Amino acid sequence: MIKTIVIGAGVMGASVAYRLAQAGAVVTVLEATRIGGGTSGISFAWTNAHKKPPKPYHDLNVAGMKAHAALAGEFGATPWRHGGGSLEWVAEPDRAAQRENIEQLRSWGYAAEWVTPPQLQELEPDIDPAAIGDAPVAFFPEEGWLDPVVYAHAMLSAARVRHGAKVICGARVVDLIMTGDRVTGVRVADGTRYEADTIVNCAGRWTNEATRDAGLHLPLAPTVGFLVFTPPVAANLSRVVRTTLINARPDGAGRLMLHWNPTDEGLAFNTPVSPSMPQARDLVQRARQLFPSIGKVEPEAVRIAVRPIPADHLSAIGPVPRTSGYYVAITHSGVTMSPFLGALVADEIIGGRQRTELADFRPARFFN
Ligand SMILES: Cc1cc2nc3c(=O)[nH]c(=O)nc-3n(C[C@H](O)[C@H](O)[C@H](O)COP(=O)(O)OP(=O)(O)OC[C@H]3O[C@@H](n4cnc5c(N)ncnc54)[C@H](O)[C@@H]3O)c2cc1C
Repeated sequence: MIKTIVIGAGVMGASVAYRLAQAGAVVTVLEATRIGGGTSGISFAWTNAHKKPPKPYHDLNVAGMKAHAALAGEFGATPWRHGGGSLEWVAEPDRAAQRENIEQLRSWGYAAEWVTPPQLQELEPDIDPAAIGDAPVAFFPEEGWLDPVVYAHAMLSAARVRHGAKVICGARVVDLIMTGDRVTGVRVADGTRYEADTIVNCAGRWTNEATRDAGLHLPLAPTVGFLVFTPPVAANLSRVVRTTLINARPDGAGRLMLHWNPTDEGLAFNTPVSPSMPQARDLVQRARQLFPSIGKVEPEAVRIAVRPIPADHLSAIGPVPRTSGYYVAITHSGVTMSPFLGALVADEIIGGRQRTELADFRPARFFN
C-alpha cells in the first residue's frame, strides 16, 4: 500500500486526502492549525467558471462544479453546497466586455442568460430596482456557493471513517526529509518525523514554509481578500449577486457576506481589521443601497486572508522537478475546483496515470 502524507487541511488537502484514501492509500493529513483554518475558512466561495480563460482552466473549473454536484450521489446529503445560480450587472464601460464574456461562455456550452426586470424581481424581490437602473442583468444558473469548512470536514471525516485516514491537527510541517533526491517524509515543529512514499503539499499560501530548500519553492503571486459580514438582516437573498455596488451572498441565518474588489486593493495582509473600520462600514452601506430592507445595520464581523495564487495565476498541480515523491496542489479558485483536482491527484499518485487535464498546470513550468 502506498503511504502518503497530505500537508494542510483546507479544501484542497481535504479533497486530495479523501480521494487518496478512497483509492487505497495509507493517508496521514498534517494540519498546522485546524480543519479549514487557512484561506478556505475566509473565502467568498462562489463556485463558478465564470471568467476563467484560457479554455483548459475554464474546463477545470467546470469540472469542479460538476464534481461538487456529483458528491450528492456519493454522500446523499451535501449540506455544504448551495445552488441558486448567480446574478451579475456591471457599469456602462464594462458592458461590452460582459457581453463578450457571455458569448464566449455560451460558445463553450456554459449556462449564461439574460433576465428581464420582472424575472429579476421574482428571483430576488428585495433588490431595489433603482440600484440596477438600465443595466442588463445576466444569470448563471449553474453557479452557487459553498461552506468550505463544512465541506473540508465532511471530506476528512469520510477519509477517516470510511477509509482509515489519520488527521492530525496542530502539526506544522517545518521541513521535508530527503534521502538523496527523494522526499521520504516530513518533520513537524515538535520534532516528530513522519515517513511516506509520497508527500502532497496542500498548504495553500504557506506552501513554501513546508520546505527549507529554496530550490523547491513555488513562486506565488498572492493577493489580499477582505470579507464583511452583517448580522442577520431582513433580506431574502438566496444566491450570489455581483453588482456595480457590492458582491454579496447569504451566509446562514440571514447574514450577508460582502466583498468588494476595490477595497481589497487598499489593504495589506497585516492591516489591522475590525468591524468598526470605515472600509467595513462602507461595504455595509453599499449593501443597504442594494437591499434597503436591511435597514441601518453595522458590520458584525470582518475577515482578511491571502489567496494562494501561483505566479502566473493558474493552478500548480503535480510533481516538483529535481525530486521524486514530492507533489504540490496549489491554486486560486480552490473552492470551485478542489473536488475534481482531488480526484485527479489521486488518479496520478495511486492510479499511475498522467491526467491530460493537468498538462497546462504543471509546477515544472516554474523550475527551468
Ligand atoms: C476573499 C477571498 C475570496 C475568495 N473567493 C473565492 C471564490 O469565490 N471561489 C473560489 O473558488 N475560490 C475563492 N477564493 C480562493 C479559495 O478560497 C482558495 O483557493 C482555497 O481556499 C485554497 O484552499 P487550500 O486548501 O489550498 O488552502 P488553505 O485553505 O489555506 O489550506 C491550507 C492549510 O494548510 C495549513 N498549513 C499551512 N502551512 C502548513 C504547514 N507548514 N504544515 C501543516 N499545515 C500547514 C493551513 O493551516 C491551512 O489549513 C477566495 C479566497 C479569498 C481569500
